[in-house]
Amino acid sequence: MTFLSVILTTIFFFGSLQYNAFNCNKSDLKENLNQLSSCQTNEIVNWDSSLLGLTKEGYAIKQRDLLNALQGQILATDDIELITLFKRAVRNHNTLYSEYEAKPIVSFNKHHPDLDFKIPETNIILDVLDSEVIVTSELSILRQSDSSSLILDGYKQEVSEVYINGSKLNDSEYKVTAHELIILSLPKDPEFILKVISKIDPYNNDSMEGLYKSGKWLSTQCESEGARRIFYTFDRPDNLSKYTVTIIADNKKYPTRISNGNLVFEGIHSDGRAIITWHDPYPKPSYLFASVLGDFDIAEGTYNTEDEEEVKLQVFVEKGKKEQAKYSLWALKQSMLFDQTFFDRKYDLEYLKMVSIPDYNHGAMENKGLLIFNAQRLLIDKESGPDNYFRAIAHTIMHEYAHNWSGNRVTVKNWFELPLKEAFTDFRSMLFNEYLFSSEIARIEQIQRLRESQFPEDASALAHPIQIESYVSSDELYDQTTYVKGREVFRMLHTILGDKFRVAQNAYFSKYDGQAVSFKELLSTLNEVSEVDLSVFERWFHQVGTPTITLSMDYNSDNNTAEILVKQSCLHPKTHEEQKPFHIPLFLELINLDGKIIAPKIKVDFKDREMVFRFDNVDEKPIPLFLHGLSAPVKWKYDFTDQELESIILHTDDAFWRFEAGNIFVKKQLINLATTIMKNPENEIFLSSNVHNFYRHVLNSKTLSPMAKAQIFDLPSLRTLAEELKIYDYQFIAKVRDKYKKQLAKELENDLVDLLEKNPNPKTYNPYSKNFVHDMKVRELRNSILSYLVSFDEEKYVSLSTDQYLDSDNFNNKLASVNILANTSGPQREKTLHDFYEKWKNDKTVINHWIIAIVSSKNCTIEMLDDIQNKDSFDPKNPNHLRSIFRVFANNLTVYHDSEGKGYKYLTDNIIRIASFNPVLANQFIQAAFVDYKKLADAQKSLMQKQLIRLREAPGVAASIKERANNFLSES
Ligand SMILES: [Zn+2]
Repeated sequence: MTFLSVILTTIFFFGSLQYNAFNCNKSDLKENLNQLSSCQTNEIVNWDSSLLGLTKEGYAIKQRDLLNALQGQILATDDIELITLFKRAVRNHNTLYSEYEAKPIVSFNKHHPDLDFKIPETNIILDVLDSEVIVTSELSILRQSDSSSLILDGYKQEVSEVYINGSKLNDSEYKVTAHELIILSLPKDPEFILKVISKIDPYNNDSMEGLYKSGKWLSTQCESEGARRIFYTFDRPDNLSKYTVTIIADNKKYPTRISNGNLVFEGIHSDGRAIITWHDPYPKPSYLFASVLGDFDIAEGTYNTEDEEEVKLQVFVEKGKKEQAKYSLWALKQSMLFDQTFFDRKYDLEYLKMVSIPDYNHGAMENKGLLIFNAQRLLIDKESGPDNYFRAIAHTIMHEYAHNWSGNRVTVKNWFELPLKEAFTDFRSMLFNEYLFSSEIARIEQIQRLRESQFPEDASALAHPIQIESYVSSDELYDQTTYVKGREVFRMLHTILGDKFRVAQNAYFSKYDGQAVSFKELLSTLNEVSEVDLSVFERWFHQVGTPTITLSMDYNSDNNTAEILVKQSCLHPKTHEEQKPFHIPLFLELINLDGKIIAPKIKVDFKDREMVFRFDNVDEKPIPLFLHGLSAPVKWKYDFTDQELESIILHTDDAFWRFEAGNIFVKKQLINLATTIMKNPENEIFLSSNVHNFYRHVLNSKTLSPMAKAQIFDLPSLRTLAEELKIYDYQFIAKVRDKYKKQLAKELENDLVDLLEKNPNPKTYNPYSKNFVHDMKVRELRNSILSYLVSFDEEKYVSLSTDQYLDSDNFNNKLASVNILANTSGPQREKTLHDFYEKWKNDKTVINHWIIAIVSSKNCTIEMLDDIQNKDSFDPKNPNHLRSIFRVFANNLTVYHDSEGKGYKYLTDNIIRIASFNPVLANQFIQAAFVDYKKLADAQKSLMQKQLIRLREAPGVAASIKERANNFLSES
């Protein structure tokens, strides 16, 4: 009897497995797992003769039960070989019998196996035919162990021939399973060449991973595990290889045929098709492999590096869109200059290519020398994109470019280290954005993103440390914590180390160039080179949740002293236990009500639970300012008076505090209003004259910029207010917020109209001019005012928005009008939306703005979502279109959280549907859909629970998605 039956008996008769039974049969267990991990459908019935009476389904179910029962015990052994075998067995089982899925496996960093072989060189030939692509891969294999078999990752490839050192292997010498190519007969030599010829079908690949068709083009996406859909390899980041890629394809159909690196050969193939070869001299992991074929317009430029080396820049775009690529070419040059000037990073290839792809799951991808972008993140001009997209595009271009060092030249050891490349890179990109677009705009946007999207994630079931310890699917790691909190952690390092950061970073890049590393290597280099003790700081990498800083002031007017006590606290979001204190770059400054500086700003390394600061000779109660620029991803508490807040806005030169003071004032008023309405639901409530005066002082200030004025119109999000009130009734909160806005607009009507006149629209729209940033601020202020005026008196002010829509020469103002009108109910709403649709219906990218305007409006209904999907311009597989509907819908809180749960059901139906062809995208929607689950009132919670259960039980949905549903359900 095999071990399998012993276990089955144990399960069925005793209800659970005994560790002893499993321990003494470990080698049998390994053998059985080995069989399951490499078997194909027709082999499974030979497993155990005593169970031959069972149907194939019966076997699958028993195997599933067995695997599920074993998981905990196997992981607990820390036996890496056994765990690796187990993971392969579960993966194979899930593929063979998707209806009887074994429980998804949690992968742990500590169980990551070393490579038995290395592949220093990879040669690939892509022979592109009309109905398939023949892939010939030739890998130089270097032994690292005496292993007798070689197991390569591969998926959805049809293998036809396999060779070792030129000799063809027969069928018994290798095996192809759903996920692997296993070479059973290996030479003992330390080095040998493996050649594999296989067929792939990019034309029917909806997953948008590997090589796939987008429009008339072929493109790749290999991060994190897409390369295995193109060729067999160790598809993991620590397998570094130098690539040579040859493409054979029809020149007419695909005049552009590109891959990573430099061009080495171009000619005509024997059958008349074109042949081209690219070579990348830098070793890279498979996830950075890329290739694109198509018929593009090409915008070109050059960039000279510090050493006067010329780099040829090319942007490949859809025919007719060359004009829209001008800005990205400009932003690319700015990025190259920025990384060189401020971080000593130089570009290292002759070519730098950027390609725009309309059907793309992510924002963009940093493939070495060949950056691929979602069209929405590359194409823009004044007629096709709003101000904030100019900023987002510059940010994305810098991000992908900056990866050339943090990610490409120095890469990550495994996917647990993902934030090492993403956060490190996005940190430089966020500084770039602040440099181009001012702190007043860019830093505040970054802070809002952190608070709106990462803080809730860090308090939910999805919370994880920056240094990831475990995951089910690497898809789930591409989240707000990895990017948004991660980049803040690097920003703090930069603040703490000051000038030493640059020196230490340079040392890290030189030391680990061409290697795959982890946070350990980065931190030890920073420690060593800077000689700053980062031992407490390292907790930012291992602890979860958002710390809170609490300040209290003891001012003594008798002896003119001020004592400030600062405390920090951070409870673990799951265990609710207090964690160790963090190293926080705090800053402290004191001003008085007239804005005079009482104590100048000092930098403080706050590493303990509490700290006391004492100031002498202070003859009035001071106003403390701290965490300048939001110097740490934390929440803070201190009771400012309204007068103090006004003084901060009017006098500080810190853009964060100007924004923050207004933000707190408005939040306070809204909370007061909500509380009063709850107590006296029947009474008519009016805002006090103090509130009006506060606004008037700010709006009439001669020194404040239009942006600072615009920011006090920025109302806190519904989610922020819900958090403060601990009431997750979004309809109620929205009503309170609308009431506040209307009353304020009514009271300030004359001031607002006056302000509009004093801040006329800039005459020209020029993203390359020095005034562009100032002009953005003016437009922001004007559109905020318009939205207030329309909210209070629709009839009177709708015409202002309509005129702006018709008369503006730029997309930003047209779109602002569309968004304002989408929230109104009169005939101008339909008319404007219709006009906008007709103008852009043939542009797959720009039409997203139309979708978002409808889906994010307060008038949105589920019927409207269906109508959008029935339009000719809607592409049901295009990720941008799907995101514009479903993710935006999940964030339209008043509509999504309807009291009957229709919104939850609608979104879950669609997540299940989308998961069947694009699990990566479905995964992106889950966070937005269920992030509030734990906090909802019982009735809403049970409606959402029903949908989470449906998602968990849905057939054909990826195990990682089910696991996430399960995580939410298990939240206490
Ligand atoms: Zn990235």
